[in-house]
Formats: sequence, C-alpha cells, structure tokens
Amino acid sequence: MNLTPVTEIDIRGLAEIYDDFDVYLSVYLPTASKDDEAKNRAFVDGRKRAIEAALPQEQKESFRETMAIVDDHLFEKPIPGERGWIVFASAPATLLAVYRVGIEPARAMVLDTSPFLLPLAKLRDDYSDYGVLLLDSKEARLFCVRSDVPVEMSHLSTDLMNKHKKGGWSQMRFNRLRKGAIKSFLSEVVEDVQDSCSRYKTRGIVVAGPGDAKHQLVEMLPAEMGKRVLAVVDLPIDAPEKEIVEVGDEIVLADERARSTERAEELRAEILKGGLAVLGVEATKEALGAGRASVLVLLKDASIPGWICERCQIIEARKRPPDTCPTCGGPTSPVDVVEELYELAERTGAEVEFVEEDTCLASSEGVGALLRY
Ligand SMILES: [Zn+2]
Repeated sequence: MNLTPVTEIDIRGLAEIYDDFDVYLSVYLPTASKDDEAKNRAFVDGRKRAIEAALPQEQKESFRETMAIVDDHLFEKPIPGERGWIVFASAPATLLAVYRVGIEPARAMVLDTSPFLLPLAKLRDDYSDYGVLLLDSKEARLFCVRSDVPVEMSHLSTDLMNKHKKGGWSQMRFNRLRKGAIKSFLSEVVEDVQDSCSRYKTRGIVVAGPGDAKHQLVEMLPAEMGKRVLAVVDLPIDAPEKEIVEVGDEIVLADERARSTERAEELRAEILKGGLAVLGVEATKEALGAGRASVLVLLKDASIPGWICERCQIIEARKRPPDTCPTCGGPTSPVDVVEELYELAERTGAEVEFVEEDTCLASSEGVGALLRY
C-alpha cells in the first residue's frame, strides 16, 4: 500500500453518499510517533464502546460488522513517510476506503449517516499540491510536493565548463559563451517546468536555489507561468527533501492564509453593501440548497450543534433533535451543522474556504457564503 495525497481522495464522491441510519464509520488516526499506536488502540476501544452503547439495539449488529472490517486495517505497521490514517467504512453499505497519509490528522472516530469529511476538508485546505524548482546555473531539480511527500519529477544538468574548455579564448569571450550556455540551459528548464505544470494541477510553484539563476529563470517564464510563482527563495542546490518541504509548506500555507483572508474580506464587503453574500446558518443553508452559493466560507473552528432529518434532510441549528421530524415524521439525529453545510456545498458544487480568524464571521457562528446571483 502507498501513501495517498489528501488531494487525491475523492471527497466530492464521499459527500454524495448518505443513509437513513448511522451506518458510516469515519476514523482519523495519527501514526507519526511511536506511542501513537497504544494511544490509538485505547482511543478506538473507548469510542467503540461509547458508540455501541448509544446505538439502538437493532443497529448494534451492523456497527459490529463495520468494526470487524476496519479492525484488521487500523493498526497495521506504518509505511515509510506515513503520519496518519483516514478510514471510511460501512458494512451495510459495503464501503471500505483506507488511506495512509503523509500528514498528521487529529484523532477522531465518528459514526454518522454519512462519512465525516470536515477534518479531511481542512487538511486539504492546508496541504494543497505544489511544485518546487530548485536550481543554479548548471543543475535543476523539479519536485512535486503532495501532502508533504516530495516526488522528484525531473533532474536536468549541464556541464558548462567542459563544453567550452577548448581553445585559447579571452576571458571576455569565455564569459559571453558561458552566459549563452546558461541561458540555453535555463530555457530547457523552462520548457520542462511548463510541461510538468500542464500535466499536474498544483497551487503554484516555489522557485529556489543558491544564486542568481533562479531570478534569471523567473524572468524567462511566459506570463501565464510567471503568475504561478508563489515565491523565489534562497536554498542550497543539494537541500535535503525535508528542508525543501519545510520551506515550501511555509510559503504555500501563507499563500492559503492570504487567500482565505481575501475571501473573508470580500464576504464582509458584500454584506456591508447588501451585495451577493449571506451570513449565519439559516441564510447560508438556504443559499446552498438553492444552488446560489459560489463559495461557502467557514471559520476553521466553527461547530454548531443541531439536528438533521434522515429522510427529508431538513437541518435545524441550536436545537436538540425532536423524536421525529415535524415536517415529514422521519427519524432525526444530532449533527454538527457545519459538517452538513460542508457536504451540501460539495454536493452543489460550491467552493469551500476555511478562514483562520475573522470577527465578521465569528459574529455569525462562523458561517457565511458568497453568492452567484
Ligand atoms: Zn423530515
């Protein structure tokens, strides 16, 4: 089994599935440190007992069956680079999706009417795929970093000195030839980067290296590619992969934060002028339901208790679930309304933006949306 980048998990597909009953088990476990295994075992054991105790008699058996299909997988030995597990399973719905990931999730184990996707969605928000081009005037290494796992896509090099060793050139002529050789090497690199970037969907590219070649290369990039450069930074040409990822992560995370802040500000501006935006659970839910929301904007730590009707999917925030749905008489269950809004966004094709901090959003339970019309 291999590490799966979180961006590769079909979250939209997972958001499509739900059931009338609590049959979907979602498990998130960190596996990076040595004592995680013991902690995970104790955690899973405790949650298993708590969930079983809370289930009605007729659903206990199907939960045990679901536990039986994940039990074999949960405590397997970590593979190189692994820092966590994400598992979605349901025996009655014959679902088993097991992902080993290179980033560390917080421990969670939830049984619900649909897969619990918020933790995965937040990880995907923080860890988008990006490229790192590490170069000097005679060597270039292109990496694609996905969920903190760098893969070297290509390695180009040129031997400038040997090419131009012969003959008794003047220093000036030698320098001119050397410059030309560097330039032709860099255009080769540009082509290579362009080729890779058209094949992979990434947030952008970090250009790094020790000297001036990186700036020279950035100037040579076509405008379209230039826009995708996230930062140009100093880094030794033989930087270890760990350092490449650390430097890249910091840049990409800052870029993501900047984008979130922009979105939050756009939301606030639209609200102030009575434009295309809504705030708060009810208005946001309505906009999502009607397909009017283009971006669901969520505070990262937003969590709103409420309930959902398993039959007609009606959601009510800040209330305990009634015995049966007042609209259709269907069964009800307690939910985090934020998770339901997230799933609704995925199903209706709205983008989702997680915002770290924002007073405007915080004043309306951390929930809002930008509207299409
Ligand atoms: Zn109902």
